[in-house]
Amino acid sequence: MNEKIKKTIDEIKSGRFPQVQDWKALFLYSGPEESRYLTEQAVAARKEYFGNKVFLRGLIEFTNYCKNNCYYCGIRRDHREIRRYRLTPEQILECCEKGYELGLRTFVLQGGEDPYWDDSRLVPLVASIREKFPDCAITLSVGERSRESYENLYDAGADRYLLRHEAADLDLYESLHPEEMMLSDRTDCLFDLKSIGFQTGCGFMVGAPGQTIPHIVEDLKFIGQFCPHMVGIGPFLPAAGTPFEDQPGGSPKLTLKLLSVIRLMKPDILLPATTALSSATEDGRLLGIKAGANVIMPNITPESVRSLYCLYDRKPSAGVECAEGIEELKEQLAGIGYEAVAERGDHPFFTEE
Ligand code: SAM
Repeated sequence: MNEKIKKTIDEIKSGRFPQVQDWKALFLYSGPEESRYLTEQAVAARKEYFGNKVFLRGLIEFTNYCKNNCYYCGIRRDHREIRRYRLTPEQILECCEKGYELGLRTFVLQGGEDPYWDDSRLVPLVASIREKFPDCAITLSVGERSRESYENLYDAGADRYLLRHEAADLDLYESLHPEEMMLSDRTDCLFDLKSIGFQTGCGFMVGAPGQTIPHIVEDLKFIGQFCPHMVGIGPFLPAAGTPFEDQPGGSPKLTLKLLSVIRLMKPDILLPATTALSSATEDGRLLGIKAGANVIMPNITPESVRSLYCLYDRKPSAGVECAEGIEELKEQLAGIGYEAVAERGDHPFFTEE
């Protein structure tokens, strides 16, 4: 084993933040032995907080309308070729009912930044999910909104909010987004969400066009300082019809390594094995869990519109990725020694202030 890389892994484990060149060596030069050591340490760290539990979240992709124009995203405003859809509140509640029957105790409502879903519509929807499913957590992932809106959603009963910071490095952020989108707005939203009391998740794409190892180190530093309750990472995957359609996809191997690193940095975190990871590599969900993730988000969006939430090409929308495959997913997890539990799965140290 390369002693220098082992030392870097031990350094991360003890809560210190390595130098950029040591991160580089870890990401670029670790061989099978060093990689195994990293994974073992990550798995041991997770075990301390979560045992062998994996939390399932029902993902409801409830609108693919978006006012933003992120260069990487398949549902960006200027993508004129895709059919747009919005679920009705009744359809969303039906998804929750179906999810509840399947044993899901968190519903994640994700969508583009759709002006239709302003507070006058989203707040009553959250309130009715809260009323009908008092024992479930409600997670929102609907982008940047005002502090007042976040407060209204929190007061209506939302518990968690996912808002990837996308890139902590300003130049990289600006190369992935049009001028009107600002990194400072994104991070302000994250700080607002956390201070309001949401369990808050940030994150980024691995292998986004132009991203280098030092950029990733900046992302890790941001995670270290922000102390999120959740982190969502997945490989960048090209989407036809976007400015980045011809760019290469991110590396699943590096994504897995980063899952282990983030687990080691923040052992108590809720860390999904994302859909993008399973799109990029066979058995990506299980590999993600083996690397240190502890959350899987089966898609419970109605089948009729599932393929329209096309963030990137070849996004899977069948089998173990979704509602119909939950039993099979549970069996697969059991097969590698993990238990999918019917629990809300809050952050272990989360207390409402
Ligand atoms: N509108 C909300 C927001 O901005 O947070 C939620 C929806 S947005 C589509 C969810 C996430 O999808 C983004 O944070 C981004 O990281 C990811 N994403 C978008 N396009 C992607 C692509 N081509 N490859 C991988 N991930 C992508």
